[in-house]
Amino acid sequence: MIHRDHAGELRLTGLTMRYGPTVALDGVDLHVRAGSFTAVVGPSGCGKSTLLRVLSGLEAPTGGTVEIDGRGVTGQRAGERRVAMVFQDYALYPHMTVAGNISFGLRLQARHDRRNGPSRQQIDERVREVADLLGLGALLGRKPGQLSGGQRQRVALARAIVRRPAVLLLDEPLSALDAQLRADARAELLRLHREIGATLVLVTHDQYEALSMATDLVVMRDGRVVQAGPPRELYERPGTEFVATFVGAPAMNLVADRGGGRLGWRPADGRALEPGQAPEGFLAEGVVEVCAYTGSGQDVLCRSPAGDFVLQQREGDRWLTPGEPVRVAVPDARLHRFDEAGRRRAG
Ligand code: ADP
Ligand code: MG
Repeated sequence: MIHRDHAGELRLTGLTMRYGPTVALDGVDLHVRAGSFTAVVGPSGCGKSTLLRVLSGLEAPTGGTVEIDGRGVTGQRAGERRVAMVFQDYALYPHMTVAGNISFGLRLQARHDRRNGPSRQQIDERVREVADLLGLGALLGRKPGQLSGGQRQRVALARAIVRRPAVLLLDEPLSALDAQLRADARAELLRLHREIGATLVLVTHDQYEALSMATDLVVMRDGRVVQAGPPRELYERPGTEFVATFVGAPAMNLVADRGGGRLGWRPADGRALEPGQAPEGFLAEGVVEVCAYTGSGQDVLCRSPAGDFVLQQREGDRWLTPGEPVRVAVPDARLHRFDEAGRRRAG
């Protein structure tokens, strides 16, 4: 265990960021709990990377404030905050060894502040510590060019963690890895989060990652936070149609509601009825268009005048085929109702 002081609480108030005419952040209010694993999701261009850069201190916001552990840090530079960031295109120094890459920031710190900066021995100890934590112990003498993609990824993480940040910001760090490495890296991140005890803020476009790993989920759109809370709460009670369809895959089905607005349900919450079987709850009727085999079942796209919908069939359910009519029942408790403006209706 490297350190565990349960620091790293973030409070963002009215955060805005403009680049000329572009509004990248449009009044972000957000509380990030100390020690949380917070995932940030949202469509491309909604401001996720900008948010992380402002949190790290690499860029000063146009307006609003950032507090870390109750202290205002809005005007502070990156080196003055206990915040570290791993970029999507983490660039390692190609001419330096793994050890050199990991220790680079600490060596700078030592040079700038001979009195309070780390000693040479302390630097060596800390590099050794994070190298062990990330399984890089045997690679410390190698150059980045002699490493696999997954190993380079771990060096980038080590370089951030060695500074002992209270907050670790990760911008889509796993997107460059192939499926098997990704799965390993996810497990690694969860373990790392436990061991370093820092607040972790992860930007991801991966639904599975966001829902399965995070303790807190933040959904952004057009430079704003549209909903934040435990993943399960956002999945089960999305506040808007946007969150309903953005969180979870396949996306929530939405069809026209008789009383105006729209009616939604998760593809796994519908059940195909046998011919003549009476429905309980809501009934959606359509024609099977496409059947996609998923290994554990079938994702079935159905056409319907009220709106197309997807049905997830599992092992043991009746296999459907394109062209056949289909009647799908959804229990009332599994229905989501939204008004004309796309807001969740009470109840
Ligand atoms: P995301 O990471 O969610 O895809 P970004 O934070 O990268 O979104 O970008 C948000 C918006 O701000 C986009 O419209 C993007 O083009 C714009 N933007 C980001 N950085 C800059 C910059 N340095 N200069 C000008 N526009 C920028
Ligand atoms: Mg980005």
